Amino acid sequence: MIVMMATASLRKYELPPLPYAADALEPYISKEQLSLHHDKHHQAYVTGANAGLEKLEKARQEGTEVDMKAALKELSFNIGGHVLHSLFWPTMAPAGKGGGGTPGGALADRIDQEWGSFDRFKAEFTKTAASVEGSGWAALAYCNMTNRPMIMQIEKHNNHIYPSFRILMVLDVWEHAYYIDHRNNRAGFIDAFWNVVNWGTVNKRFENL
Ligand code: MN
Repeated sequence: MIVMMATASLRKYELPPLPYAADALEPYISKEQLSLHHDKHHQAYVTGANAGLEKLEKARQEGTEVDMKAALKELSFNIGGHVLHSLFWPTMAPAGKGGGGTPGGALADRIDQEWGSFDRFKAEFTKTAASVEGSGWAALAYCNMTNRPMIMQIEKHNNHIYPSFRILMVLDVWEHAYYIDHRNNRAGFIDAFWNVVNWGTVNKRFENL
């Protein structure tokens, strides 16, 4: 059966621009590292997500079978990558101009309540990022059932994500996030990251839950 669909009007994923200049996070993240990460790696997930959708749309139009398990696995990988990178860029800001330091506002109080101190939270988040096996992310998320913030470790882009948890802050620890600046030294990259965390954005996400 051939189904006629106006697929041209269906929305596609788009690469969001960086919310700052590509060299704005130096010296903590170099222009070359950030440009490649955003322009090439993030773009690849956007392209992959759209290609995955188009594959499904084409099969629907032609009435052909799709290996749904394989198609959806690939789609969740690419969409997960796109969503997490889209959260990642605004999670950072130039050091001293919104980036670095410690959180304020309501978020600071909740971190103290949950972890006892910011230093304890920072240590747990750092360990979470450092101990990702292979490629993945550390995230600060929020559970709507308990109303508690939680640290989440994400494998690849899409594994170990808790459904419906809102993500407040993410750190990408795929090698492509740091190999130009730090070679194989992930810990060096995590240290650098703390200098550019945009606590204002993270706090806003928390207040807007
Ligand atoms: Mn990445």
